[in-house]
Amino acid sequence: MRKITIVGGGQSGLQLGIGLLKDGYQVRIVQNRTGEEIAGGRVMSSQCMFHTAVQNERDIGIDFWSGTCPPVEGISFSVPDPEGSGNKVIDWAGRLDNNAYSVDQRVKMPVWMDEFTKLGGQLVIADAGIADLENYTRQDDLVLVASGKGEIGRLFERDAEKSPYDKPMRALALTYVKGMTPRPEHSAVNFNLIPGVGEYFVFPALTTSGPCEIMVFEGVPGGPMDCWGEVKSPDQHLAKSKEILNTFLPWEAERCRDLELTDDNGILAGRFPPTIRHPVGTLPSGRKVLGIGDAVCLNDPITGQGSNNASKAAAVYHRRIRENGDKPFDHAWMQGTFDAFWDYAQWVVTWTNMLLVPPPPFVLEIMGTAGALPTLAHRMANGFDDPRDFFPWFADPNAAAAYLNELKAA
Ligand SMILES: Cc1cc2nc3c(=O)[nH]c(=O)nc-3n(C[C@H](O)[C@H](O)[C@H](O)COP(=O)(O)OP(=O)(O)OC[C@H]3O[C@@H](n4cnc5c(N)ncnc54)[C@H](O)[C@@H]3O)c2cc1C
Repeated sequence: MRKITIVGGGQSGLQLGIGLLKDGYQVRIVQNRTGEEIAGGRVMSSQCMFHTAVQNERDIGIDFWSGTCPPVEGISFSVPDPEGSGNKVIDWAGRLDNNAYSVDQRVKMPVWMDEFTKLGGQLVIADAGIADLENYTRQDDLVLVASGKGEIGRLFERDAEKSPYDKPMRALALTYVKGMTPRPEHSAVNFNLIPGVGEYFVFPALTTSGPCEIMVFEGVPGGPMDCWGEVKSPDQHLAKSKEILNTFLPWEAERCRDLELTDDNGILAGRFPPTIRHPVGTLPSGRKVLGIGDAVCLNDPITGQGSNNASKAAAVYHRRIRENGDKPFDHAWMQGTFDAFWDYAQWVVTWTNMLLVPPPPFVLEIMGTAGALPTLAHRMANGFDDPRDFFPWFADPNAAAAYLNELKAA
């Protein structure tokens, strides 16, 4: 039986580990926090996952929440009037063909850790370092690093060609709340773009105490939404979240009259540079480890793709491991495995990185036109499930013009 160790028990590590166990591999997951610590700790993400990513979980029998998690049924997009009239200059919504779901990782990961153990996996609670990786590579056929933004991620060298930014592009904050007035038509990721200031999006989710709403703030560095340094308590965090909406997004503020935090740990603030890394890490002994998920493909959350990518990477790596049969998991296989994922992920990364700089006029035209053309709004919404569909028309002015003309003629 082939032996595999995965360091990091998040979306990518646990999904892959459980999938491999079900195929008869011997799997060890090394995770630096217990399920109780995760459940009782701070929120880590907003983790909205679209259909294909959730289907990957269903395929291996670990989607335990689609029945209880409030669904996300669409995407809406608004831009406030830069003159400050309080009106929207762009406003549209599109229905998703299949619901998306956001299950708080504090709910999901402890359950998956239990499931992994029940299926016969070896769960080691430890903060793995380089010396541990050396041991695991000596003992096992393959060692994967799925430790998100953790320290051992430094084993993987930044890929400058694939990483256009070397500093954080947004000041990020999360606020998990209860008491928000629901959207009238259907639930959605309500995405608001405030030119020069940043983005705010909000959607329903399932947290440790039941249904909630997750507010995500993406402030342009140095701008008025880059304001979390002065916040010292959960109450101040909630007050700051409401203040931003009162200042820039009156229609969102209107939904927030009776807001309360889900819990004192339902808040987060931070920033990081979006970074793609070379996927094969070399240990001091010369032995190789393969990175997966945020460890090697870290996106800004502006497009809500990180957990989706982690799930899709786990599915690709799972297939590649099976296809490799009894052959060695050597450097070429590792690079080929990441490349198979990158065939898809490059489009997600390009689209996400595009949205971190002011949109060029042709993109604004696409966004504006979607208000008048429901077909376009529908396509934009469903592109979140598979961003390859945005290309080439969202990235190239000529392709955009041709596509919009075709739509208008129809
Ligand atoms: C503010 C914010 C909002 C987001 N919103 C969304 C969204 O709406 N949709 C979406 O798809 N994605 C979103 N993401 C991104 C998403 O959360 C991540 O991309 C995803 O969780 C990555 O999964 P992973 O398995 O690669 O790593 P992680 O989830 O980071 O898991 C890694 C695990 O490894 C553990 N670990 C770390 N170091 C070690 C070590 N040395 N030894 C042992 N264990 C270790 C960690 O504790 C953790 O449990 C958001 C992220 C942020 C920051």
